Amino acid sequence: MGKWTMRAVVLLVMLAAGWWGLQKLPPQYNPFALLTLDEPPTVVTRYKLHQLANHPQECMALLAQARERGMISWRAQADSTGECPLTRVVRVTRFGNVSLSSSFLASCPLAVRSAMFIHRVAPKVMQTQGSALVRIDHVGSYACRNIYHRAQGRRSEHATADALDISGFRFADGQRITVEKGWRGAGSSSRALRMLFKESCAFYGNALGPEYNAAHAGHFHLGVNWFGLCH
Ligand SMILES: [Zn+2]
Repeated sequence: MGKWTMRAVVLLVMLAAGWWGLQKLPPQYNPFALLTLDEPPTVVTRYKLHQLANHPQECMALLAQARERGMISWRAQADSTGECPLTRVVRVTRFGNVSLSSSFLASCPLAVRSAMFIHRVAPKVMQTQGSALVRIDHVGSYACRNIYHRAQGRRSEHATADALDISGFRFADGQRITVEKGWRGAGSSSRALRMLFKESCAFYGNALGPEYNAAHAGHFHLGVNWFGLCH
């Protein structure tokens, strides 16, 4: 066998082994596998979540699958026009056993990311709080405005229903924690909030909380832009 034939054979064997290896990889480590709803989040998962915005049909298929599995309840919402037009948004009404202070409008990527986050974090909350998470309090997702309500500047993620502002959590035993009152200090509320915030970072493009700035003292801003900004 000539030197070049030998090299070609070695290369082919390596490629085949690489391909075989990829097939064996769990989805959270395989960038070519479709995103799955309950894969433990890795940097590969983050990449696939980021891609949802560029693949609306795949996103909607995943969202339909999440509804079938009882992870999220939502209904389709008609496209709207105006200064901040909305296309392909849904109205989210609950996440499985977790209700909402009110339903909210969400882009498909925001809805999928949120469903995966709540699905993942709920059992952990049960472990640390000793009581099930039953409700999420929020202060909105869609608002036709610029960042920080400034007159000039770029549009907020809220102008496209690409971010949810969560202000508190309620539990089956009646306990209620708010970001505003619970974040500071060393109590169990603070620990629970910090755990919830940290977990959210794996599922959203950006998660901004009380440590970020005064504008976020009372809520977690969980949005789809950027790639793992977590403050
Ligand atoms: Zn926000």
